[in-house]
Amino acid sequence: MLTVMKFGGTSVGSPEALRRVAGIIASTEGERIVVSSAMSGVTNFLVSAVLDPAPDLESVREQFANKHLSAASQLFQGEAMESFRKEFDERMEKFWKALNADRSDPYYKDGVMSQGERFSTLILAHVLRSMGIDARAITSEEAGIAAEGKPLSGSADLKRSADGMTMNVKPLLSMGVLPVITGYYGISPEGKPLTFGRGGSDYAAAVVANAIDANVLEIWTDVDGFMSADPRIIPDAIKIEEMNFGEAAELAYFGAKVLHPRTIEPVRQKHIPLKVRNSFKPEEPGTLIHHLRKPKNELLRSIATKTDLSIITISSAEMAYRPSMVARILDKIATADTIIYSISTSLSTVAFLVSTNDVKTTLKQINSIEGYDIERIDVKNGVALVCAVGDNLLDKYGVSGDIFSAVKEAEANVEMISEGASEVSLNFAVPMSKVMDVVRILHARYIGERHDARIRKRQRPDGHRRSACGGYRR
Ligand code: ADP
Ligand code: ASP
Ligand code: MG
Repeated sequence: MLTVMKFGGTSVGSPEALRRVAGIIASTEGERIVVSSAMSGVTNFLVSAVLDPAPDLESVREQFANKHLSAASQLFQGEAMESFRKEFDERMEKFWKALNADRSDPYYKDGVMSQGERFSTLILAHVLRSMGIDARAITSEEAGIAAEGKPLSGSADLKRSADGMTMNVKPLLSMGVLPVITGYYGISPEGKPLTFGRGGSDYAAAVVANAIDANVLEIWTDVDGFMSADPRIIPDAIKIEEMNFGEAAELAYFGAKVLHPRTIEPVRQKHIPLKVRNSFKPEEPGTLIHHLRKPKNELLRSIATKTDLSIITISSAEMAYRPSMVARILDKIATADTIIYSISTSLSTVAFLVSTNDVKTTLKQINSIEGYDIERIDVKNGVALVCAVGDNLLDKYGVSGDIFSAVKEAEANVEMISEGASEVSLNFAVPMSKVMDVVRILHARYIGERHDARIRKRQRPDGHRRSACGGYRR
């Protein structure tokens, strides 16, 4: 049994959290590979350093070192501290080099922003060593995690990563070593660190699981599992026990921050089940995401939202009769590497939903199209996408009517709809100012009420509530 265990920023964010996580790892049976994020707050700190036009590099180094040394000093004494300190100093030298590298290098930011993971993994490996486990901190370079693509949004090369992990990590496992690998980044074909986008440690862990043919991937975070909505928007969101890969992939792609948007594909490819678990409550079973799931006939299971989007509408008479024009527009948008979250067409218009950050480059590309007469381009900013996942969402007559009546109750206009494009979800765009209301109403009507009804059903007539373990609790 080989388990890949990924721990997020808050799970390794303090000496107590690190101790708790080490306990979870120690009590997991079989072979284990750990992947860790940076300690919480560290990547944000590095982002502000790379964005600062005139940073005080000495102060950046000092603050960064102090953050990790202060945690280490509460975890290690004597020889344990000395052996930690030796590796720490070596890594600090590399940190300093990355910080002082050429800022005009397109991969400069990746080089600096990926530094936090190198230190959290070092501390965690030493905590495990102090418990008598032969753990070793391994960087993505050493593990052979291969990446390609644009700075700050790399994609893993699964084939090269599998080759690298087979050569570098498998032998460690057979020697009984527990590898603690840096999340968040891989190595570009030029040999430079390339990050997978913010929150990318989930994806890195899925790549590790794929590359090493793990039996299970566990994503340990700070909530009880994949929930019916972001618990920061909906405080009474409920934990989902089981989901299939398709449902989780749609929700993650359309904004459920609990998983990086690209986490599912590497594990789905190899049928590796994924569990989302709470490192602060290891006794909770979390959410199981896998190939199959018995439908429970729930109209709505989970809702995710993506904000800061814009609709670009391009008008030209009888565009529908000129398919080559639509193809040309799509081609141009692709050159700008813009992600299109939704498309809709009419006789004379085609509309795209894209991130507001991408509008400028997208318009530049569209304006460079020659040979077709584009009459107008309109841009509507301040749009949000709602992704609703449910059972048989598309088969059931009237389901979208039910959902849109909740949107009406929020007095929101539906700006765009994608129905039927995915088997498991219904996606629609609303003004950003209304999105919270829409989610609250949808959740209260179709998830909260159902949950309350289930609890009422479980209660005995005398009002005693049935406990989770099956008995009755007073
Ligand atoms: P980590 O540091 O462990 O990677 P993240 O902050 O990236 O943790 O992701 C966990 C957070 O995702 C939760 O604290 C929660 O606020 C947020 N979240 C958003 N949508 C969901 C959802 N559907 N289920 C669970 N958590 C969600
Ligand atoms: N440390 C990185 C970030 O904050 C990656 C991660 O946490 O998944 O984005
Ligand atoms: Mg995360």
